[in-house]
Amino acid sequence: MPENRVTDQPYGTYSVYSVLKTGLWVTCPRCGGMGLVTRGDGPYHFRCTRCGHARTKELSGYRFRVQNQCPSCGRYYNITIQDRRQQTFPVLRVTCPYCGFAAPGRVEQTGKQVWYGEGGDLRQGQDPVFGFDLWFLTSFGGRPVWALNREHLAYLIGYLSAGLREKPAGRFGLRTEADTLPGFMKTAKNRDRLVRRLKELQKK
Ligand SMILES: [Zn+2]
Ligand SMILES: [Zn+2]
Repeated sequence: MPENRVTDQPYGTYSVYSVLKTGLWVTCPRCGGMGLVTRGDGPYHFRCTRCGHARTKELSGYRFRVQNQCPSCGRYYNITIQDRRQQTFPVLRVTCPYCGFAAPGRVEQTGKQVWYGEGGDLRQGQDPVFGFDLWFLTSFGGRPVWALNREHLAYLIGYLSAGLREKPAGRFGLRTEADTLPGFMKTAKNRDRLVRRLKELQKK
């Protein structure tokens, strides 16, 4: 029987949404120290634990975008509309990221709190509110790998280095945290090196 056995966590345990309650660990843009992004009932806050730099941001919880097929090069693209005023326009002229051709497109509001979904919302490992690099951010084979806080990092290391992984009790068939991990992180041949990389992050 494998000595190193781990029980996976229920899906959402380490989502941005849940971690924001205690703090999403990010890198301070001013001093490079560790800061926390949190949210109470209202706006989001950032505060650096080293230099005290602080920011506040109010977010609607909605995202706005224009989806187009470029009339010039034929490719599909998706432009996020950040500007509050532009978000109220029914139609907006946007520029194709591939060829630079400007074309009008319908401004769409996407689902509420899409932010809090998995993976993609963190882009290349930045927090979805202020866009700061996560504190626990590294790369593996050219792909970004991150943890949302120290507890999440410990979970990843424990999960990936375990000899046997089990679903949480009573959650059979339901989604778990590990289901949200990209395939390359779970591939057996990558695991040892990935765990070493993550353990380096633990020293921060
Ligand atoms: Zn700072
Ligand atoms: Zn184009």
